[in-house]
Amino acid sequence: MKPRVVLIGGGLMSAAAAAALARAGHPVTVLEKGELACGASGANLGQLSLFDRIEPWHYALACETFEEFSHLGETIEYDCSGGVVVLQDEAQYEGALPVCDALRRLGEPARILVGKEAREVEPFLDDTVIHSVLHCPHEGKLNPLLTTLHYYRQAEDAGAEIRLHTCVTGFETCGDTVTAVQTNQGRVEGDLFVNAAGAWSLDLAGMLGLSIPLGYHRATAFVSQPVPPCIRGPIVGGEMFLAHRDMSLRRHIGLGGVQTAHGSVIIAQATETSGVDSREVTLPGLCLTARTFLDHFPTLGDLEIVRAWACVTPFTHDGLPIFGFSRSFPNLFHFTGFKGAFSIAPAAARVLVRALDEGFVWEGDAFSPDRTVSAL
Ligand SMILES: Cc1cc2nc3c(=O)[nH]c(=O)nc-3n(C[C@H](O)[C@H](O)[C@H](O)COP(=O)(O)OP(=O)(O)OC[C@H]3O[C@@H](n4cnc5c(N)ncnc54)[C@H](O)[C@@H]3O)c2cc1C
Repeated sequence: MKPRVVLIGGGLMSAAAAAALARAGHPVTVLEKGELACGASGANLGQLSLFDRIEPWHYALACETFEEFSHLGETIEYDCSGGVVVLQDEAQYEGALPVCDALRRLGEPARILVGKEAREVEPFLDDTVIHSVLHCPHEGKLNPLLTTLHYYRQAEDAGAEIRLHTCVTGFETCGDTVTAVQTNQGRVEGDLFVNAAGAWSLDLAGMLGLSIPLGYHRATAFVSQPVPPCIRGPIVGGEMFLAHRDMSLRRHIGLGGVQTAHGSVIIAQATETSGVDSREVTLPGLCLTARTFLDHFPTLGDLEIVRAWACVTPFTHDGLPIFGFSRSFPNLFHFTGFKGAFSIAPAAARVLVRALDEGFVWEGDAFSPDRTVSAL
């Protein structure tokens, strides 16, 4: 019998981990304080990106994931549509050049397109207000809710137990071993514990007096009623290519958009500092996001917005995930902090299985939860 794994969190990372671990023969229990995908996994746009995965391990993870999604097809509304990063000025363009080169070296036929060529990939984008676009043909989109639920179904089919409305409130330890978690539904014992609680992973670590190099911010998006096709692939702004992006701002407005399989346009995003449980949608956040979107898509001013939402999502200041056993509690594994988790989750979950079963250490321990990372 393989060790019993208790997974904390009911988002995509935990879903993919539960499916992979249960299939590998582990008894698995998932503990989620609310409903499945009630955190960031149910709040996001479903964009699949490559422009922010130029490290070989990262690009390989995304390619493996997209290959898996291509077999799932309509089950998760996967569409390998290609995607663009909109480069708004010369500085963003300069920042995108080495990224484009790195992607091409990795095998992605990325290109920087201007004028007519840019218009051909995204006809509704106003090319008079932009410098150019970075186009990655293998980027795409999916339905995030269907995807998360798909992996939970796989996990259950492989024997995993999923307990909803079960909030982890503390840990029981014996020496340096975690023996059980305490929850509002009683205690749950296990051999290995995986902290996959997204932005809340920080709180979970804190319950054991641990600190992990994780940050989080609240991201806001809103969605229109279905309209005829107008946006082909995921669209994001090129701010991340700027060498000196001011991360200390309490509110950052970026360009983001995607059209779902059913025609709704999801527009994002306002990224704001907040408490971990905050779901607040701020009026300035909404207005500035809408303004940015309309500056780039002026002909879409008639979109009727039907809903807006916000949720916290995790990040790390060095851009690397938090993946590894805790030095203080060697049977506690942290599995969080991946950028845009939808592009990598199932492949990352298979690496997790190797780490738990074989002691595999990824990238020379660069992702250690015990590393020190200072804010930029
Ligand atoms: C507005 C927005 C847009 C985004 N757009 C994209 C995008 O287009 N593409 C992309 O790839 N990514 C996007 N992201 C990021 C993406 O959603 C996250 O990378 C991903 O969902 C992280 O998954 P997770 O499982 O780690 O965390 P989560 O989905 O947040 O799951 C963590 C879960 O842990 C549970 N939990 C917390 N504390 C406890 C506890 N004590 N006990 C039990 N359970 C607990 C929570 O309820 C939650 O369900 C977006 C995020 C937001 C907010």
